[in-house]
Amino acid sequence: MAKIVAIANQKGGVGKTTTAVNLAAGVALLGKRVLLVDMDPQGNATSGLGVDTRSLQTTVYNCLINYVKFHDAVQTTEVNGLSLLPANADLSGAEIELVNVEEREKLLRNFLKDVDQLFDVIFLDCPPTLGILTVNALVAARSILVPVQCEYYAMEGLSRLVGNIDRVRQSFNPELQFEGIVLTMFDARNTLARQVAEQVREYFKDVVYSTVIPRNVTLAEAPSYGRPAMLYNVASAGSQAYLSLAKEFVSHGEKSAG
Ligand code: ADP
Ligand code: MG
Repeated sequence: MAKIVAIANQKGGVGKTTTAVNLAAGVALLGKRVLLVDMDPQGNATSGLGVDTRSLQTTVYNCLINYVKFHDAVQTTEVNGLSLLPANADLSGAEIELVNVEEREKLLRNFLKDVDQLFDVIFLDCPPTLGILTVNALVAARSILVPVQCEYYAMEGLSRLVGNIDRVRQSFNPELQFEGIVLTMFDARNTLARQVAEQVREYFKDVVYSTVIPRNVTLAEAPSYGRPAMLYNVASAGSQAYLSLAKEFVSHGEKSAG
């Protein structure tokens, strides 16, 4: 059975997709069978892995709404062991189209039951909203991984997120765990960033990964080449940070399994 991890934060631009793509690639490079599901109509994880969102015929949208089979929608990537269930703008229709669908919160969960055994880890890249797509991800997931940018309102955002996770637990998914918090786009020269990082660690303790993702130009550039950072410039601080996060992620899993 795959470990299903939602990468979520209701705030946009905090590094969710960058983390989804590069952590998924890093975990695949460690020899795991990994699937990345793009749950954001913007399709940034899809294009970031080199798949042209406009020419796509079948996406996760068709899987959830039209009962298209996984094998007809999944894409291989340049990274050995990393598959992608892509998304494009079609997915933005789901929010409205699903209003009257029964068990609409469970579509992704039900869909993934059949592909669960094909992968060791399934990452879900969530949009920056708490709509039906994110709820589907949080209902399908066994745990949530939260990228946090160290800026002024980070703690407020986090406490709101914790409240939302509690609501999802109560309504649909009592087993939803906190996988971890990863500090992203960190600039050590910035005093505020250092203070916020300290605050987050003080409050959330062991939940926070020791790996910190620095602000790094390779991470910003790699998506325009349709590649994870490690396949674009493996020596960069950004690539090395995500490789280190991948190791931490995998060893966490082994700790909690054992
Ligand atoms: P989200 O998915 O949360 O909206 P993204 O991962 O798309 O956030 O990141 C927002 C923007 O910041 C993107 O342009 C991305 O390339 C850039 N970015 C993300 N992480 C870093 C980083 N560590 N260093 C530099 N740029 C980054
Ligand atoms: Mg994103």
